[in-house]
Amino acid sequence: MTTMPPCADTPLAREQAGLDACVHCGFCLQACPTYLALEDENDSPRGRIVLMRALADGTLPPSDADLREHIDRCLGCRACETACPSGVPYGHLLEATRATLRGGQAPTVAARALLRVFSHRPLMRAAMALARLLAATPIPTLLMKLPGRIGFGMAMLAATEFPLERAKYRAEGNGENGSAALLLGCVMEGLFTDTNRATERVLIRNGYEMVAAPSQGCCGALHAHAGDLDAARRLARRNIEAFERSGARYVVTNAAGCGAMMKEYDHLLSGDAEWSERARAVSSRVRDVSELLAAVGPQSGGVLPFTVAYDAPCHLQHAQRVTTAPIAVLEAIPGIQLVPLDESDQCCGSAGIYNLIEPETSNAVLARKLDRIVASHASLVATGNPGCLMQIGAGLLRSDMQARVVHPIDLLDASYAAD
Ligand code: SF4
Ligand code: SF4
Repeated sequence: MTTMPPCADTPLAREQAGLDACVHCGFCLQACPTYLALEDENDSPRGRIVLMRALADGTLPPSDADLREHIDRCLGCRACETACPSGVPYGHLLEATRATLRGGQAPTVAARALLRVFSHRPLMRAAMALARLLAATPIPTLLMKLPGRIGFGMAMLAATEFPLERAKYRAEGNGENGSAALLLGCVMEGLFTDTNRATERVLIRNGYEMVAAPSQGCCGALHAHAGDLDAARRLARRNIEAFERSGARYVVTNAAGCGAMMKEYDHLLSGDAEWSERARAVSSRVRDVSELLAAVGPQSGGVLPFTVAYDAPCHLQHAQRVTTAPIAVLEAIPGIQLVPLDESDQCCGSAGIYNLIEPETSNAVLARKLDRIVASHASLVATGNPGCLMQIGAGLLRSDMQARVVHPIDLLDASYAAD
């Protein structure tokens, strides 16, 4: 009689081919922010894959505390995927491991509560409205130096304030480059509403016709990263329906994490006979806003006299492999001096809700990013993801640094307004 390993027929068992692809060469080690910060092989991609294998073959039980700790400490930044010559799909392995470890539950009560808010539209809108109200008061700035998570949370809210003057203009275009429906996003529409409107304006000016997808919701990325794959699939199905109904040629995102998730709806729903083909069709239409703009230009606008460093969001650089398009957007702005940022392809420590679950490692990773920003002498750091905007922005504010963060699309929009 053959015995089944304890983790047979789990999400991780279904990713066995990905586990087998790792040849333990170690090329990924120096790309891994947690390995660089903690100098422990168990906090490297290679070490975590060894732990995943032990979980899959039953050598370690899902309850093993060390195993959970090292898997929880992973940022999910996927820098190891870019470095890996063997094509190990580390992001999928991590999601499947987390789903296997806790039966699809996020690791802490606070994280579970937060994920519930994100998957429930009325709750999410209420939470974002409250956060917006608070952000409009002096309270976040007054409290942002408090130690611990409260102070850091306040600094994140304070960092949502746009650092330039926002001049509105009326965007006009002929729609000749096709129609696009914007994924509004939970945090983007809640706390970066003006960036969403700026995204629509710059796309219209560059020849895209904007159409609505009114019944859309959260993309499910935070749920998938935390291992709650069932919730992620529910949210994905809702969005697939919404964007099918929009009839748009492109689904456009301005949040790297959401874009990466939507481009992988096909993998998420690959085992669902009813939805897999629909998921594949929608995933193939997803583009980051910088990709749509770079494909047609983008048009240049008025002069902006800033020194700008580009910091690549992990889920744009490593998960979507979009590297040059955001630079093309920034280069289209006259007057901007683009300066190099050392380790711009390394995580800032935000990683979805990671800074809530693993604040110490998150801070260690952020400190390294802030050092690199100081050395760049940039006055603005451009990055296209809400988590990175808030994480880096909070770090700059709490360290009394002069530099500020900004979404690249907001800069292009400001350039058009100055035209
Ligand atoms: S994940 Fe890739 S780079 Fe890292 S040890 Fe395995 S095969 Fe090598
Ligand atoms: S996802 Fe990022 S933090 Fe996790 S193992 Fe890979 S490189 Fe390291």
